[in-house]
Amino acid sequence: MTNTASFGFDNSYARLPDRFFVRMPPTPVIGPRLIKLNHRLAQHLGLDPEELSSTEGLEILSGNQVPDGAHPLAMVYAGHQFGGWVPQLGDGRAILLGELIDRDGVRLDILLKGAGRTPFSRGGDGRAVLGPVLREYIVSEAMAALGVPTTRALAAVTTGEIVMREEPSPGAILTRIAQSHVRVGTFEFFASRGDVEALRLLADYVIARHYPEATESENSYKALFDCVVARQADLIARWQLLGFIHGVMNTDNMSIAGETIDYGPCAFMDTYHPETVYSSIDLAGRYAYCNQPEIAHWNLSCLGKALLPLLAEDEEAAIDVAKDALDTFPGQFDAAYLAGIRSKLGLAEKRAGDMALAQDLLRRMEENKADFTLTFRGLSRLPGAHPEIDASVSQLFENPAAFDSWALEWRRRLAEEHQTDAARQRAMRGINPAVIPRNHLVEEVIIAAAETADFAFCEELVSVLSSPFEDQPKFSRYAMPPRKDQIVRETFCGT
Ligand code: AMP
Ligand code: MG
Repeated sequence: MTNTASFGFDNSYARLPDRFFVRMPPTPVIGPRLIKLNHRLAQHLGLDPEELSSTEGLEILSGNQVPDGAHPLAMVYAGHQFGGWVPQLGDGRAILLGELIDRDGVRLDILLKGAGRTPFSRGGDGRAVLGPVLREYIVSEAMAALGVPTTRALAAVTTGEIVMREEPSPGAILTRIAQSHVRVGTFEFFASRGDVEALRLLADYVIARHYPEATESENSYKALFDCVVARQADLIARWQLLGFIHGVMNTDNMSIAGETIDYGPCAFMDTYHPETVYSSIDLAGRYAYCNQPEIAHWNLSCLGKALLPLLAEDEEAAIDVAKDALDTFPGQFDAAYLAGIRSKLGLAEKRAGDMALAQDLLRRMEENKADFTLTFRGLSRLPGAHPEIDASVSQLFENPAAFDSWALEWRRRLAEEHQTDAARQRAMRGINPAVIPRNHLVEEVIIAAAETADFAFCEELVSVLSSPFEDQPKFSRYAMPPRKDQIVRETFCGT
């Protein structure tokens, strides 16, 4: 990587006006060490994994050297955090190196998270800690394998520096890849300052980069808003269908491109309960599992408000336009969720009672503390006509009879389908994962890495999670829910 031009940067964001960011390089670290490199992703980006793993590559991934063609910068944005307005935020510990075009022709940001202080750091040290860097690596890569739109993890390095959190912790940097880092909060920043020129530039930028189809509409800004609403409805439905809880759905953590972004105190549910919260800072449960659709809708209303100056000449007309788009969110979410839950139940056809059937199962799962992932995976194995192996699923319920009586209804419904058992089971296995990044395992990996610098377990977990829809009998421990003494009730966002 001496010829670092091999990145092939083309930095469109850096060509926007100066008030969109602060140009600055990452802050060097004393002792970088590569702990994880995503070879397949590197290749997809047209990068050479060997070069990235070399000493020169490590210098770049740790921020010690700025590669040729990069235009490093910290982006400015604002946001609503836990519902409260914060007029200025920004990359307080991240540096965008630039953009490259992947093998599919998609423009992607390459960003170092934990790259040092910036003018947006407020009181923070600009650094990230090994544990949360590993969590973001593991969970974001698992989400990608599960087919959920998400930012990706290209690499994780330790810095050789100690970072002060609740206790001294090893510093680390994550190299994050994203379709872009434009957030709802980026629009809010310019809107709140009445900088309509910048708002328009940003909207045009986002349309050109993410939603070129919007230019075909009479009102391309309305079309842009429609597109973002549609992507978010789809994204949140996918989260709900997998039991994923983001944990900090602030508007500065909501991507305009519709990717899951800013993994902090996130987690997947084990036993099903709609009010599950993991984040240690979410005391009121604002970002609980069951609230995620409503919160996304609320965040989109913030985006709509920010877009008002672009939507119509006078404000009242603009509000009507924004409302029209916003009001489609619940319907789009419900449709995406219903289609998804039908597939989870193995139903290829549509019947009026399908949602009720799903809700009945979920209610029984809640009452009986059934594991979300294992219940649906188990269902994927059951024959359509005979209940003889139903115990493999009903034993997940405190009262197995609660499942058995539901299964009677399910089979009645399956009898109306026209697909074979084998085809149904195959389809179900393709969407009901066998393995998810269970919180207790992620914690185990983090502890092993942070306390004993043992990354073997992390390697294995990442590898198992890369094929989430396959039964991997040799690694069955990764599919198991936590024992009582392994349950992790809280996750921290001190990335
Ligand atoms: P988050 O919700 O984790 O995305 O963080 C919210 C804001 O706080 C972002 O603007 C971050 O850049 C900033 N921030 C978080 N941690 C740090 C840190 N250690 N140093 C500086 N800024 C930080
Ligand atoms: Mg953030």
